[in-house]
Amino acid sequence: MPLEGLLLDMDGVLFHGTKPLPHAISFLRGISPSRYLLVTNNPSRTPEEVAERMRRMGFEGVSPGRILTSAQATAEWLAQRKREFRYFAVGAAGLHEALSAKGVPDRQRADYVVVGEGTGLDYEALTTGINLILKHGATLVATNPDETVDAMRNGEHVILPGCGALVAPFAVAAGVEPVVIGKPQPLLYEMALERLGFEASHCLMVGDRPDTDIAGAARLGMMTALVRTGRFAVGDPWPQGMPRPTWDVTDLVALKTLLEKRFPDVFSMAC
Ligand SMILES: [Mg+2]
Repeated sequence: MPLEGLLLDMDGVLFHGTKPLPHAISFLRGISPSRYLLVTNNPSRTPEEVAERMRRMGFEGVSPGRILTSAQATAEWLAQRKREFRYFAVGAAGLHEALSAKGVPDRQRADYVVVGEGTGLDYEALTTGINLILKHGATLVATNPDETVDAMRNGEHVILPGCGALVAPFAVAAGVEPVVIGKPQPLLYEMALERLGFEASHCLMVGDRPDTDIAGAARLGMMTALVRTGRFAVGDPWPQGMPRPTWDVTDLVALKTLLEKRFPDVFSMAC
């Protein structure tokens, strides 16, 4: 099987917060931009903001077009279902920006109540959302299923509520299950593969989470590589019931060595 394209998760694979992981910069520099996409469940930042943050970390030449967020995938999915969809969104600026590029905000007659990560959830937002769902038939949509998100605040690691937690009050109050867009659901991967133009079986997903990155990609028939530099550390036992990745490696250095042997052309296309 040839290896034509790579999808890479970002946090825990390429960097932690604002610190690049060892050898991540050279790993990415070695791959032709037409062969990779960076895919993230985090809907809070726009691709432009992510690219700029990466540039400040030392990743040169990563254009916003190489980045696909769950907010963009959500907006794309909604636009495919209904042109000029109306929405009520709760979440960070990146979500609002992605949705407003394809739809119209409307807190009275929204077709979709969309929940992402970040601030915005309060009593009024919850009230608006559940009334739209229960009285106007709006569909509840979550950008991603993560219960929590790792973040750095003033140099300290903190755990923030993820979209899975933030969408729960809407789901409970309205008695509905949300449509979930991000990993491990297939939509984000499918959009990324379409953008790259390669078949799933010819692409490799590189991630740090067995339950999202690896499980979702494996279901689509992609090759998978788990790097133990994020949520999952060297020595952690494999979680029960999770599909094993094609390759389980310590870090990107180990992965690069392995890929160079197996697919010699992957790292020779760039520069
Ligand atoms: Mg990650």
